[in-house]
Amino acid sequence: MNLKSSWTQIRPVLAVGAVGAVFALRIVRKLKRLLSPSLVLAALSIGLCQASLGQGDADLEAPGLPTFPTTLAGGAVTLFQNVRIFDGASAALSAPSNVLVRGNTIERISVNPITVETNANVHVIAANGRVLMPGLIDAHWHAFMAATPQMLLMTADPSYLQLLAARQAEATLMRGFTTVRDLGGPVFGQPVFGLKRAIDEGVMIGPRIYPSGAFISQTSGHGDFRFSFELPRTPGGPLSHSEVEGVAAIADSPDEVRLRAREQLRQGASQIKLMAGGGVASPYNPIESTQYTEAEIRAAVEAADNWGTYVTVHAYTPRAIRQAVAAGVKCIEHGHLIDEPTAKLLADKGIWWSLQPFLDDEDALPLVNPVSRQKALQVFAGTDNAYKLAKKYHIKTAFGTDLLFDAKVTSRQGSATR
Ligand SMILES: [Zn+2]
Repeated sequence: MNLKSSWTQIRPVLAVGAVGAVFALRIVRKLKRLLSPSLVLAALSIGLCQASLGQGDADLEAPGLPTFPTTLAGGAVTLFQNVRIFDGASAALSAPSNVLVRGNTIERISVNPITVETNANVHVIAANGRVLMPGLIDAHWHAFMAATPQMLLMTADPSYLQLLAARQAEATLMRGFTTVRDLGGPVFGQPVFGLKRAIDEGVMIGPRIYPSGAFISQTSGHGDFRFSFELPRTPGGPLSHSEVEGVAAIADSPDEVRLRAREQLRQGASQIKLMAGGGVASPYNPIESTQYTEAEIRAAVEAADNWGTYVTVHAYTPRAIRQAVAAGVKCIEHGHLIDEPTAKLLADKGIWWSLQPFLDDEDALPLVNPVSRQKALQVFAGTDNAYKLAKKYHIKTAFGTDLLFDAKVTSRQGSATR
């Protein structure tokens, strides 16, 4: 792709690599509303990404396809002229500035003009007072499920769903999100790994993805999507439909959890996701339920730790969170029903808290099942308290949206409250 021509398009993006940076220039509506009526956001993210672990078939390259640029050659230069910088540390924007980026490094920031040679290796962007800011990270994302209705996911042709996910990945980047942590739920043969690979290779445009692969759930757990006619499970028998799809991996006993965790790592998972407690969208299990035993969770923790990575768990209640922490997990997803002693425990142990601003508003997940709706209301009621405790104990929190099944809400990823 010709970089010069790509920058002349409405939403120019120069995606910079597997170990590099992503520059994205686009309007982000929320900041536009908050900061200035004429404000346009430019996103700049430098060098946050590691190459993924265990990428399968990495020695085989994309078969001669034209690709988008995924890395800047060492000497390539980008000059942003006349930007106001949002640095994430201050609410105020900088004075009009110029920013010189060489390769993957911000080399110079100055309110005075920066002069560069004009040649094919230098790209100058006249930003006209737009905002330059770090790329956004969504720490709880589902690349295949965010924008596609649940019924479509369950019934549509797999190749169609993969194309939808690829388009959605591009839209995600264009919203300013340069990195997503995919917390499971790929469909049909774990294609999130394929999507990540295609983006990393420059075959497709999208954010860098940290994939979990299939989430691991106990029988009856939040990730057990089997139909009742698929039960009972026959040891050694064929996989259930949802397991074949790669949505969930059902595992009971430490040995099975270890096996399923290692299968995800083999596919390229950058972290392992376990369901450690009840959930909203699974009406058959109480949200108060604690899932897995400490020994089962520890089996996944050991497998992940030996691989050089970590386990994160879906958990809402103090008991589920405490058991997971005792088993050695490094991160809690959700946790809205937490109590104060458990929040203090997270702080004391340095556990990350991946918290979502779930509220009962226009962004709430539409739930037809009254049992799920009731559970959602419980979660919404805990949101305010959870954020207060996170602040009070200075817990390490990560922003994530966990948007599901709704293209309209997904388009508001930067401002939606769930
Ligand atoms: Zn999720």
